[in-house]
Amino acid sequence: MSTQRDYYEILGVARTATADEIKKAFRKLALQYHPDRNKDDPKAEEKFKECAEGYEVLSDPDKRKIYDQYGHAGVRQSGQARGFGSFEEVFQAFGDIFGMGGGGRGGGGSVFDEFFGGFGGGGKGAGPRRQRGATLKCQLDISLEEAARGTERTIDVARNESCGDCGGAGAAPGSSATVCPACRGKGVVHQSQGFFSIRTTCGRCQGEGETLEHPCRKCRGTGTEKARRELKVKLPAGVDTGTQVRLAGEGEPGPRGGPRGDLYCIVNVKEHALFRREEDDLHLDVPVSYTGLVMGTRVDVPTLSGPATLTVPQRTAAGTVMRLRGKGIPSLRGGGPGDLLIRLTLDMPKKLTKRQEELLRELQQQDEENVSPERKSFLGKVKDLFSA
Ligand SMILES: [Zn+2]
Ligand SMILES: [Zn+2]
Repeated sequence: MSTQRDYYEILGVARTATADEIKKAFRKLALQYHPDRNKDDPKAEEKFKECAEGYEVLSDPDKRKIYDQYGHAGVRQSGQARGFGSFEEVFQAFGDIFGMGGGGRGGGGSVFDEFFGGFGGGGKGAGPRRQRGATLKCQLDISLEEAARGTERTIDVARNESCGDCGGAGAAPGSSATVCPACRGKGVVHQSQGFFSIRTTCGRCQGEGETLEHPCRKCRGTGTEKARRELKVKLPAGVDTGTQVRLAGEGEPGPRGGPRGDLYCIVNVKEHALFRREEDDLHLDVPVSYTGLVMGTRVDVPTLSGPATLTVPQRTAAGTVMRLRGKGIPSLRGGGPGDLLIRLTLDMPKKLTKRQEELLRELQQQDEENVSPERKSFLGKVKDLFSA
């Protein structure tokens, strides 16, 4: 899930391919990587899910448009590309393309039935739908530099994995779940109360429709066990605090072999010692001496891509903001990076040397002898105010 290949490349179609061509390409690849045909090849499942994810995006004109424009980051960010945690989910999403109506299987009479019909506990079409696992969340603290150039992190997730003894089924090895006698597999029971019949979740099987006569000893019938897993998370350039990156199918497994939930990584960009971020722009305060502002000067300023030299023109007012275009943060939505806005502040000396004081006194004298027209006009107005 962490390595992102181009969807067109995955499906082996041109970027200009028609909807029909995309559909055909997906069917062909789905057959090629189908689980029943690749029992000895663990990579087939990954390929199968990868194709399904590509197809999910490219078969939808809106999602395809977003993908064409912004790539993976675009569709991931907006939750358009869910990705798939298991075969099961692929079948649920695209049952129709394989000739299986309504998520059930073994229906249909299509050419795909011979491949897809018997998969995953065949003939159980009428049984209860497996519950999806819980969503997991994690926080990723990254630096501003990492947010600007994009980064990849390995995270350590504490989550449940399928029980190694029972393979997630929850039944002791050699046994299997049996249809719940209380609800006869429906997961719900009807209770009569006067004229009413009330439908409630079956208490015996908790709505699963099945009960375990011999629960697995290791997991006590839950089908899961605690584990830690390392996962790679790719953060595209431009992420900000609050950005959520979805790792589809990396959450908790569903009870008794149900599909996994998703894992969300929530980005937190740490405060930077120098730069302040506002959307895609960066702000920076640079202190400049009084003489530098008056006489003009060159100052070295940091940017995220290395040092730069800024020319401060003569007679620059304190508080002036200068803009370095494109030196901000790359935009997640495309459309080029933001700017770096540098505010020139007056560097008020804390202490003056004797020589500085001498020179400044001389300068002060000059200032008093040579009053600028602006100051003259101001002083005039003050005088008028008090004499009125
Ligand atoms: Zn178990
Ligand atoms: Zn029941």
